[in-house]
Amino acid sequence: MSQTATPSYKWIEQLPKVCLHDHLDGGVSPQTIIDISQEIGHELPADNAEDLKKWFEEAADSRSLVRYLETFEHTVAVMQRREDLVRVAAEHVLELAFDGVLYGEVRWAPEQHLQAGLSLQDAVEAVAEGFAQGAAVARDRMGKPVMPRQILCAMRQNNNSLEIAKLAVANRGLGVVGFDLAGPEKGFLPAQHQEALDYAVKHYMPITLHAGEADSLESIASAIHEGRALRLGHGVQITDDFSILKIAEASPEAVEQGADPDQEVMKLGLLSAWIKDRQIPLEVCPCSNLQTDAAASTTSIGRVNGGEQERARAYAQHPVDLLYRSGFAVTINPDNRLMSNTSVTSEFIKLHETFRYDWPEFFELTMNAVDASFMQIEQKRSLKQILQDYYNEFVAAQNPQEDSKAGE
Ligand SMILES: [Zn+2]
Repeated sequence: MSQTATPSYKWIEQLPKVCLHDHLDGGVSPQTIIDISQEIGHELPADNAEDLKKWFEEAADSRSLVRYLETFEHTVAVMQRREDLVRVAAEHVLELAFDGVLYGEVRWAPEQHLQAGLSLQDAVEAVAEGFAQGAAVARDRMGKPVMPRQILCAMRQNNNSLEIAKLAVANRGLGVVGFDLAGPEKGFLPAQHQEALDYAVKHYMPITLHAGEADSLESIASAIHEGRALRLGHGVQITDDFSILKIAEASPEAVEQGADPDQEVMKLGLLSAWIKDRQIPLEVCPCSNLQTDAAASTTSIGRVNGGEQERARAYAQHPVDLLYRSGFAVTINPDNRLMSNTSVTSEFIKLHETFRYDWPEFFELTMNAVDASFMQIEQKRSLKQILQDYYNEFVAAQNPQEDSKAGE
């Protein structure tokens, strides 16, 4: 299922990347789903890889939550036996390698993989083994070093989040670097998982929380207040906290200094200003958001109160560029590679085509992702050096006469 960029976008595919919001069960290859389904007797809506891939995309694009969730029933169904989890995890790392990802945090919910008798611990070990196998193949056969890490998700609608937080803490040694809450956001605030969140905080397990995807400011505020999230999964509904005002209203002193009183400016509320000023990273996943109506359209952001805003249905309407240009710590992610038929490469290509992003933006977005990642500071420094060297060479190759350096 790996997408190959057209020759003119080969340079984007080859850029070294960092990926932070990537669901293991959202990125299974169609052929793998078919192979395992045949072995375990699971019924699928299509019997060949091409039709199945198409079915996943259509279901995810249908604007029907029921059909969208059905897609995960099939991927989760084939990730129950130990050998299948190992296979899916190993293949996921190869996808990261094809995507140019050097470091990837991949999330999944162990509690959804116990139907064939695995324990939570068995499941984490299986994924760790798959990641190690995949990384070895990527390094030895593809010449691509990939560092995959696990983020463990507890499902918000269930009541075992404390157990999952403990599982995460107990498995640092196997490459678990974070804890997340996934599943239905509306009606299940992070505050309802206080014990789990406290446990993670007290044991220094970094927290990222899905917030601002299917719900708005209350959920984001709870992720910050009770969740003490170091990053926000999506976070795009933070734009509900923006308002567009005339300068006369927003800053009368500017008018005194000669500004046009009718000129419009974007004003941030306290929550969005906090997230921006503290540089709390947003794991933005534009393609996924367009499918689930998660993001408000830039045509209505700041002009309508509350959740009544028009939804972004086209890439050009997605607030990713608005957030980035406004100074938020934006990172770019695929969310579900299969359902959204996407990758970091493909998101970068869309950013290039839609907002004319080029290497300086990709460099900055990737550096943001390194800073936002849950790796150790020494690793961050060495990864940043690798990125800096790559971009320097890339820029030098483009402008042989000039001695320009990326990011300097
Ligand atoms: Zn997600």
